[in-house]
Amino acid sequence: MQVFVLRGDFETLDAYTPLLFELGAQGLEEKEGEVWAYFPERVELPAPGEWRELPDEDWLAAWKRDLRPVVAGPFVVLAPWHEWSGPELRIVLEPGMAFGTGHHETTRMALEALAAAGISGARLLDVGTGSGILAIAAELLGARALGVDIDEQAVAAARENARRNRVSPRFEVGSLERARPPYQTIVANLYAELHASLAADYHRLLAAGGRALLTGILPEREEPVRRAMEAAGFTPAGRRQEGGWVLLEYRR
Ligand code: SAM
Repeated sequence: MQVFVLRGDFETLDAYTPLLFELGAQGLEEKEGEVWAYFPERVELPAPGEWRELPDEDWLAAWKRDLRPVVAGPFVVLAPWHEWSGPELRIVLEPGMAFGTGHHETTRMALEALAAAGISGARLLDVGTGSGILAIAAELLGARALGVDIDEQAVAAARENARRNRVSPRFEVGSLERARPPYQTIVANLYAELHASLAADYHRLLAAGGRALLTGILPEREEPVRRAMEAAGFTPAGRRQEGGWVLLEYRR
């Protein structure tokens, strides 16, 4: 089994993930600042990173064995083969088909922020839904969620994951143009520059008093997001940091 170790910041990982699947990756694993993409054989790959050869053990079995349930706020994120007897709200996801397994700090902070936001009954927009984890979590908390993603395969995975969790968020391929405002909450795990460029759109899409939960932000790139959000008319309402990642909360 060949593994391509893709390295870089969120923007890079985000930009190259769809390409990895297009070129035949059979699974992705999120790690600190890296994504490991498993391929049956090496392919020409114009992406920052390196190839490694893994011993011919069953990598899928090894990966599954090492994957742990993740507790975040009131949720536990499980793979289909995990057993769990705790009181947490379960989110069961097939890992490896799109970003968003709960193993990344940004996803965990977003889950905690959603739970703290009191979103029952709210219309919620999840921008960059990946595996659909945040839209699924929002529905479990009683919100009505739309998840959008520019990556078609992510949207297919998100729909499958929602069925598995017996909730019915809508998922659409695309971005903010798919949204039908007003929303009471926007959650977006993207990257700093993209948040800064979307700030005015977040404002347009949110109802008065609505909340934006933005993550995927490195502390050293936080300032431009703050400036753009405040220039768009938002009021800061909170900040979380876990490891090298920040989540910013705003009220419209
Ligand atoms: N929401 C999941 C989570 O929190 O774990 C996945 C977040 S993942 C870091 C970011 C996702 O955003 C990727 O699936 C990517 O395809 C998508 N994306 C990137 N740019 C986007 C854009 N402009 N509009 C919508 N989705 C975008």
